[in-house]
This record gives sequence, C-alpha cells and structure tokens, in this order.
Amino acid sequence: MDAAQVPTEEDLRAGCPCLWINPRLAPAADALAAAPVPADIGDAAEARFARCAPALARLFPELAASGGAIASRLVAVPRFAAALLDDSRAQGPLPRVLLKADHELPVAGSIKARGGFHEVLEFAEKLATEHGVLQAGNDSAALANPEARALFSRYRVAVGSTGNLGMSIGMMAAALGFQAVVHMSAEAKAWKKQRLRGAGVTVVEHAGDYEAAVAAGRAEANADAYSHFVDDERSVSLFAGYAAAAKELRAQLAAQQVRVDAHHPLLVYLPCGVGGAPGGIAFGLKRLFGDAVHCFFAEPTAFPCFLVRLAFPERPELSVYDFGLGQATQADGLAVPRASELAADAMRQLLSGVFTVSDSTLLAHLALLHETEGMRIEPSAAAGFGGLRWLLHSDGGQAYLARQGLQARAADATHVLWTTGGSLVPQEQFAQFLELAPALTAAGP
Ligand SMILES: *Cc1c(COP(=O)(O)O)cnc(C)c1O
Repeated sequence: MDAAQVPTEEDLRAGCPCLWINPRLAPAADALAAAPVPADIGDAAEARFARCAPALARLFPELAASGGAIASRLVAVPRFAAALLDDSRAQGPLPRVLLKADHELPVAGSIKARGGFHEVLEFAEKLATEHGVLQAGNDSAALANPEARALFSRYRVAVGSTGNLGMSIGMMAAALGFQAVVHMSAEAKAWKKQRLRGAGVTVVEHAGDYEAAVAAGRAEANADAYSHFVDDERSVSLFAGYAAAAKELRAQLAAQQVRVDAHHPLLVYLPCGVGGAPGGIAFGLKRLFGDAVHCFFAEPTAFPCFLVRLAFPERPELSVYDFGLGQATQADGLAVPRASELAADAMRQLLSGVFTVSDSTLLAHLALLHETEGMRIEPSAAAGFGGLRWLLHSDGGQAYLARQGLQARAADATHVLWTTGGSLVPQEQFAQFLELAPALTAAGP
C-alpha cells in the first residue's frame, strides 16, 4: 500500500500498520468555525479547574503540593528519541522531541484526569450553586465542605469505561461524596477495579465490550433523576476539560523557549480511543497555534475506529468489527469499536492524519522508554511514539511534510509525544509488559 493513500478495506482487514493522511484538512480558522463546539470551549474549563483547585487540594493529599492543579510535565527525551529513530535514521541532527507526561497526572494516573475531573466538577458546581452551597463569585473551596458532601451523597455519578475513564470519574466522584458507579467492559484490568472498590466506588462488570458497558450505564442512569451519566461517546464537558490542556502546553513551550509559528512547526502525536481526549487537545491546540500545529492520532491496529470514521465519511455506521477487527489488544485504553461523533465532527477538517500501531510495536516502545528514560507508561500511552517514524521515515509521512512545506523546516520543528497513562500500573503488571516486549528492530515502519 502507498501509505499516503486511504488504506483499502483489505489493508485494514489485514491489520497492517498504516498512515492515513486526511484529505479534508482545512485552514485552521475555517475548520474551527465549522466545528460543532465553540472555539474557546477550553477557556471555561480552564477557569473551572482554577476555581476548584482549593477544593481539590483539600480532597486529595497528593494534590496539596500543587495547590490542586491538574497538570503534567513537558520533558525533553533525547536518549529515547535517539534510540527510537537511530536504527533507520539518515545522517543529520535529531529532531527536538518532547514528551507531555500525562501518564503522571495525579489521582487518575492518565489523561482521563483532564476530561473526567472536569465533568464531575462541573456537575458538582451546578448542584452546589442550585442548592445555595456555593455563592456566585466565590472560589469553589466549599465543594469540599461537609454541607456539600451531604448534598452530593443524594446523587449518583455513573460512567461506562474500559478502565481509565472509570478511574478518573470514580475517584473524583467518590472523593466529593457522590455515589459513584463504574460500568467496566471486559478489557478492564483487575487492579483498576480493585483500586476503585477500595475508594468506595461501585464497580459493575460486563462481559461485553466498551460500547455495551456504556449502553448499560446510560440506560440505568437515564431512568433516575438523581443520576448523572458521563457519556464518553457524546460529552461536551469531557471534551472541554481536554481542550484546557492546550494552554498548559503553550505555557510550557514558552518557558522552554520553544517557538511555534509558521517557521517553527509543532507536530503532536496523540493516542486515540473514542477520540474525545485527543480531539479536545487537538482542538485547543489548533485554536492557539492555528496552521503551525499538526495533530496526528494513534490507534492500535485492532481498533482503528477514528481512522475508519474519518476515512469513510459516507459510511457512519461502520465500526472496526465490520473489518473483522476488534481482537484483544494490550492497548486496553484504546480498545473502542466506534469513534465519538462529537470528536469526529470536530476533527473532520482539523486532523492531519491517523496512524496505526501493532501491539508488538507498542510494547517495544514502552520498553525502550523505560530503558532510556526510566519512565513507566502503559501500552496505550506508547501508541503515539510510532508517529515519529511514520512522519520522518515513511513515504506517506515525507509526502505530507513536503505538501505542507515543512521539509526545509525540519531543524526548526518540535515533536510532542503525548503519553496518556500508566503511572498507577502495579509493578508486577509492568514487569509483564517488559517481558512481552520484542526487540525494537522487529517494529515498523
Ligand atoms: C482513554 C485513553 C486514551 C484516549 O482517549 P479517548 O477519549 O478514548 O480517545 C488514550 N490513552 C489512554 C491511556 C486512555 O486511557
């Protein structure tokens, strides 16, 4: 397959890693105007995180030091970048590669802290304001008071999840005093269920996939006026929480004297499940950096749901099962058969492309990051790493860079690899990932 073309149905069925370049990519200003959500959607979320920080600092000991801020580091990973690119690299300097360490996000241990915490806080603020527990204009420290807790204990917050969203919603909802219910799909790891139960969350296990877990949760919550269901396939509040990450990244780039403009492109590689998390972040970045930022989503070869949704726009009913895919994957956080319609709508003209990564590559990259930089991530979070090789070492990637006029700017480009989860993974489980990891040379492209 010429990787710059739409992969055919046969390519997808074969489960081969591929790079799909979005033929509908439009100027950022036009694409933002055509999107289903307002361009400044991340701003209100950012303000909410700031208002609620004092309450979070009181509710979670691990947030006391940061004053309740939900933020992650932006770190240079030169040893990792050299090792990742070395075996196939032509002469020339290494590109600047930074890692956005959302795997270290507190309490939830994944990128879901951004969207998930935001939606629970929005619901809590709304209830508390309606019931006079919060006064308009004040900060939201009162969300951690006994009065708020008594109010919240009458309400239920529910979610369907492959694991990490459940962790984020469950931990935050339980900490505020809500009845928290998490519907888990078959992929969900035992240690996540255990940890949630330990925090007082009700975990309902489903034999089916992620869609089935979401449907069950949605049906139960809709029947109950005291329930709020966090709908990963449709939620604007989750999307807004993710979008708020864009300003955090901009401030960190500025602090590290990294320029982003027409002459200094920014390429961002984001692991994708339903597309809400990477979609929100890409949307926020496009608003801040416009055409200077190029966003790529990464999916496991067994679950290319976002690729399928964008590459076959005239067939919205398609899921990965229609391609004979959906097999078990180590990337449990990305094991989603169908994309979020909201995220797909928002990304239709903003996303540069989608690439897929095999499980063996995910594990090899996970092991390489551990070996070179000592970081521990989960397989889903390693999905973005393949993007560096796709862009810099494949014909399709080179064609994209040439068309965008970026080839001559390679030395001035910055690549951001977004690591999305893993710091809570138990040691034994992480050791198993390392054991399963093949040597990198076997990994493509
Ligand atoms: C959920 C998740 C993603 C992707 O988020 P979506 O909103 O489902 O696209 C990426 N990485 C990890 C580790 C996740 O848990």
